[in-house]
Amino acid sequence: MNIHEYQARELFEKYGVAAPAGKAASTPEEAEAAARQLGGGEIVVKAQIHAGGRGKGVFKNGFKGGVHVCSRPEEVREVAAKMLGQVLVTHQTGPDGRLVNKIYVAEAAQIARELYVAVLLDRASSTPVVIASTEGGMDIETVAEHTPEKIFREPVHPLMGLQPYQARLLAQKLGLKGDQAKQCAKLLLCLYKLFIAADCSLVEVNPLVVTRSGQVQALDAKFNFDDNALFRHPEIVALRDTAEEDPREVEASKFGLNYIGLDGNIACLVNGAGLAMATMDIIKYYGGSPANFLDVGGGASKEQVTAAFKIILGDRHVRGILVNIFGGIMQCDIIAAGILAAVEETHLHIPLVVRLEGSNVELGKKIISESGLAVISADSLADGAEKIVAAVKAAEKDARD
Ligand code: GDP
Ligand code: MN
Repeated sequence: MNIHEYQARELFEKYGVAAPAGKAASTPEEAEAAARQLGGGEIVVKAQIHAGGRGKGVFKNGFKGGVHVCSRPEEVREVAAKMLGQVLVTHQTGPDGRLVNKIYVAEAAQIARELYVAVLLDRASSTPVVIASTEGGMDIETVAEHTPEKIFREPVHPLMGLQPYQARLLAQKLGLKGDQAKQCAKLLLCLYKLFIAADCSLVEVNPLVVTRSGQVQALDAKFNFDDNALFRHPEIVALRDTAEEDPREVEASKFGLNYIGLDGNIACLVNGAGLAMATMDIIKYYGGSPANFLDVGGGASKEQVTAAFKIILGDRHVRGILVNIFGGIMQCDIIAAGILAAVEETHLHIPLVVRLEGSNVELGKKIISESGLAVISADSLADGAEKIVAAVKAAEKDARD
């Protein structure tokens, strides 16, 4: 899960990570009021989307830059009006861009140096690692490719945590001395504490700046949270902005379904992640291409099955559906009833192959065969995959002829 910069700044404040004061705004008037509240100096206005590269981004209305430094509150309102409700395209958003619903209005820092710091999980060492670079404001991937010697790493012992000497060492490698080195070390220790406390998989500050008056401050923030730990953090789940996510995945998560959209045309509805993977593989094996990964879980209800069908059919590339259920906790007759309800409710008009196995399988098959609906029954996983691939190919041929 990701969060917006303005939300990240609140976490920074809570954990003592130094950053300029600021406020989120949803209208140009709010933005102007926020600017007045912040006082006399220069103000930076930043579009809030879950993607980086905003500084160099371009709005679809032609307005250049998702980050603007303004000198007067009236100017803040004008810039806000050009950003809010507009679509910002950056090298991270793809050509569709992202709609800007909120902006962040903050005291603008007078930048002397731009640095980079991040805390993330390093798979190679199986520990958290703190990364720092003198090349702030640039893509760290680019720095890693062209000037890897400008990136410094400190692996962290998971039980001991980041040690003060490690933070000081990184500050020194960044070329900071005296009070600035102290500020930087403190910031890194706070950042690490936050990374662990909030179960993050990434916290990235790019740029971390040294201001002309010698303050070390975080000017940008990117967070990734470990989804598997979110149950421990209702306060972080509350920061989720579903407008930034794939609508199908959002809908699926409402019903407790695990859905990931893919680019094929045969939808699958399966119980269990392993079986879902196997189902996708066997569709490929028989020459088809899966449209999604969809795991309805161990004990799906009729409502979940109907929701799953609706999500599947919301994908206009889908030409056929393969249902593959292994009834264990889940009973096949319940699934069969769910399938029939979904077929009727969605007026299904594409081929549907159903393979049921396990608890109450006979009853499940009977419910389907007696329904009179055009459901193709399959006896095994291979049989099901072969039948759906053939049915989709036949339908495509019909459409061509
Ligand atoms: P990103 O492009 O989405 O990563 O957004 P950033 O928050 O990193 O902003 C992009 C660039 O805008 C930064 O690298 C800075 O050069 C500049 N910038 C951001 N905030 C300020 C600020 O408070 N003052 C000044 N002068 N420049 C800023
Ligand atoms: Mn940035």
